[in-house]
Amino acid sequence: MSPTMMKALRKMSRGRGLQMDKVAVPEIGPTDALIRVRAASICGTDLHIFGWDRWSQGRIKPPLTLGHEFCGHVEKVGDEARGIAPGDFVSAEMHVNCGYCHQCRVGQPHICQNLEIIGIDRDGAFAEFVRIPARNVWKVDASIPERYAAILDPLGNAVHTVLAGEIAGHTVAVTGCGPIGLMAIAVARACGCSTLIATEVNEHRASLAKPMGADEVINPAETDAVARVRELTGGTGVDVLLEMSGNPTAIQQGFQMLRSGGRASLLGIPNKPVNLNLVEDVIFKGATVQGIYGRKMFETWVQMTSLLKSGRLNLEPLFRERYPLEGFQDAFALLRGGQAGKVLFYPNGDGEMGKK
Ligand code: NAD
Ligand code: ZN
Repeated sequence: MSPTMMKALRKMSRGRGLQMDKVAVPEIGPTDALIRVRAASICGTDLHIFGWDRWSQGRIKPPLTLGHEFCGHVEKVGDEARGIAPGDFVSAEMHVNCGYCHQCRVGQPHICQNLEIIGIDRDGAFAEFVRIPARNVWKVDASIPERYAAILDPLGNAVHTVLAGEIAGHTVAVTGCGPIGLMAIAVARACGCSTLIATEVNEHRASLAKPMGADEVINPAETDAVARVRELTGGTGVDVLLEMSGNPTAIQQGFQMLRSGGRASLLGIPNKPVNLNLVEDVIFKGATVQGIYGRKMFETWVQMTSLLKSGRLNLEPLFRERYPLEGFQDAFALLRGGQAGKVLFYPNGDGEMGKK
């Protein structure tokens, strides 16, 4: 018999912090699936919600169970759900699109006008169970280990950004080596980029960039990053900028590193407007500038699965820390200090915890 109550890590009221709570296991509708969470991972957004920053205050409506990066097993499915069955090992696209707006109708559901994000707008996966619309559930290939399956959401951001234009044989700058920047390094490398230069100000994260596949890592607080990139590219600049920091200075430097005719793909989210020299850095350069949001549904998921199955994506340097849900204070503190890659929770028991 399925349990009726479960533990969940929740934002209980408007303000800083999170709390462990006992709540009812979600009821599912005819087009939903109930997933028993195996592993869930903390995202930078969860840190913002924990800290109750301005963005969270405008968006989050407590009480809310956090968590939008996860994998698990299908517990049960609604009568109208297709393509999945109890026991399947799955993850999910947590951006739920409406299916009716202009973008949804022209095949761009990832920028739907009415997007709702599970774990931000509705109860998420930092719990024993999570309810997901069945069409958002993604069956995970049996060759993919559970720690990788738990981070398909941010890995998809990286894959989406890297594959938004040509990459094979191209020189690349990745600005910002947070988890997604680090994953972008591994993806660009697996897709055959040539020289890959990363920038990062945090020492721990910078130390992970080379193991993930970067040729050179620059700390822009110590070295003139733009001059160094020019030097490494024979004075030309890089073909591709993957902006993964959201930091205004890094964004400006990224554009200066880009060669004329290059591609700038911007995923990082600045928390205020950024000044750009459009004339020098975009127009006269003939640069292609792309905003990247979420993952393409479901093209990115297909590409990501192929890359993982090829065995060419090594994400191991990202994984070190595993916690039970109850250890959330330590887990969040560790991430806040920038001293971790991906931190995993195991809400239903310790799984791979303790194992490397
Ligand atoms: P993160 O905050 O962990 O990583 C950002 C990294 O940039 C940090 O390691 C930080 O030290 C580094 N950084 C800061 N200033 C820098 C500078 N001047 N030069 C070089 N590096 C610098 O974030 P993450 O989880 O890896 O996500 C990356 C970015 O993408 C964030 O801005 C996040 O909000 C954003 N994001 C966007 C989407 C989307 O759909 N567009 C989805 C997920 C995350
Ligand atoms: Zn829509």
